[in-house]
Amino acid sequence: MKISIFGTGYVGLVTGSCLADVGHDVICVDINQAKIDGLKQGIIPIYEPGLDSVVKSNVAQGNLRFTTSAQEAVQHGEVIFIAVGTPPDEDGSADLQYVMAVGKTIGELMQSYKVVVNKSTVPVGTADKVTAVISQALEGRGFNAEFDVVSNPEFLKEGAAVADFMRPDRIVIGTSSAFAEGVMREVYAPFNRNHEKIIVMDVRSSELTKYAANCMLATKISFMNEMANIAERVGADIENVRRGIGSDPRIGYHFIYAGCGYGGSCFPKDVQALARTAGQYGYDSKILNAVEAVNDKQKTKLFELICKHYGITGTDTSALKGKTFALWGLAFKPNTDDMREAPSRVLMEALWAAGATVKAYDPEAMDETQRIYGNRADLVLCGTKEAALNAADALIICTEWKNFRAPDFTVIKESVADQVLFDGRNLFDPAQVYRNGLAYYAIGRADSI
Ligand code: NAD
Repeated sequence: MKISIFGTGYVGLVTGSCLADVGHDVICVDINQAKIDGLKQGIIPIYEPGLDSVVKSNVAQGNLRFTTSAQEAVQHGEVIFIAVGTPPDEDGSADLQYVMAVGKTIGELMQSYKVVVNKSTVPVGTADKVTAVISQALEGRGFNAEFDVVSNPEFLKEGAAVADFMRPDRIVIGTSSAFAEGVMREVYAPFNRNHEKIIVMDVRSSELTKYAANCMLATKISFMNEMANIAERVGADIENVRRGIGSDPRIGYHFIYAGCGYGGSCFPKDVQALARTAGQYGYDSKILNAVEAVNDKQKTKLFELICKHYGITGTDTSALKGKTFALWGLAFKPNTDDMREAPSRVLMEALWAAGATVKAYDPEAMDETQRIYGNRADLVLCGTKEAALNAADALIICTEWKNFRAPDFTVIKESVADQVLFDGRNLFDPAQVYRNGLAYYAIGRADSI
């Protein structure tokens, strides 16, 4: 099938290249000229395991192309995906300007029937708004063409995006048009062979499904962080509690890790956006507001532990002035270079405000960190995790990259002057760290604080 994708970010590029990989004829369009120029030269703008080879092999086979020409893309696609960003507005609700701009463009350029697919995460009612903007643009041209707007939220996880797209748990399609449903079934048939994964529903339920999924996951994390904060006060260890509750299949082991807060481009903004949507409908979502508040607080947890270690009780953080902190992990989670809303940012900014220096290492997010913060004397980006330890006073771990899970504690002890480890991801058994002569602070572990 001929498919066009607006937006070549994490979702658009993965969607486009995976659809091309099963044989569809795909054009990806973006307004970012540099990104498209790079992609044409085989430069993949993001780090995502497996993406590089899927993009390159399908470009080589001729079924994946990149353009900045909306005209070319609209003409090409019988199915047109909208996969542009929906960042938070000033009040936390989803900013739909990019989605609506694409809708308008489609209406201005389409010459024949199109299935327009909202893959961006958008508030309930957005399909109606996109329908209206396309109709308006068609009217403006005095042109009559039929189209359907379908909701098809994306559930891929950054860090495993290609694998998730290729083997989805479910494919949600929101439409009331039997014809559009048939078209969408054809698009996804190659991903639906093993067993039925397609779930068809009305548009509004589909739009809400995406928010409900992300909010449920964020709730699990904030819930565990709440338990961690209780655990450390009552003398318990959240890691034991996690194992104890995860063994109940109604709860399960997934997404119940306590830590230094969730980040990324989705959970923070989607929790906020759904809370704002609820508010617009006169409903005060106590759970969503609490999930957000707990997470905001949790992102300051590592800094609080650092203050505790250095005997800081009030607002005078001068004890940190001139200290150097080795920081392992910058990305908001492993296997991505995405720094959006990363807990590491809140921590680094607090350390800088206190006059400390950060020597950071991340396997993939160094360029992104450099892009965000530029050159500054109090940020040193190091080529290896060992280099970050050099001449540091303490070590902090923010992201649970695999490569951080079995470090040489002797090297850490010999390198960091204050012989202390702050672990925002509970990677180690406290006893093991103590045996190696380091002080250890982790999340929700009474024994370690
Ligand atoms: P992104 O910021 O990585 O990419 C968005 C891209 O859209 C950018 O390259 C931008 O230049 C492009 N764009 C903006 N306006 C355009 C236009 N008019 N025409 C063509 N391109 C345009 O965003 P993302 O992370 O891929 O997220 C996209 C959407 O998918 C969001 O709504 C997000 O919530 C949702 N989503 C994201 C993930 C994720 O893990 N990142 C997962 C599921 C859903």
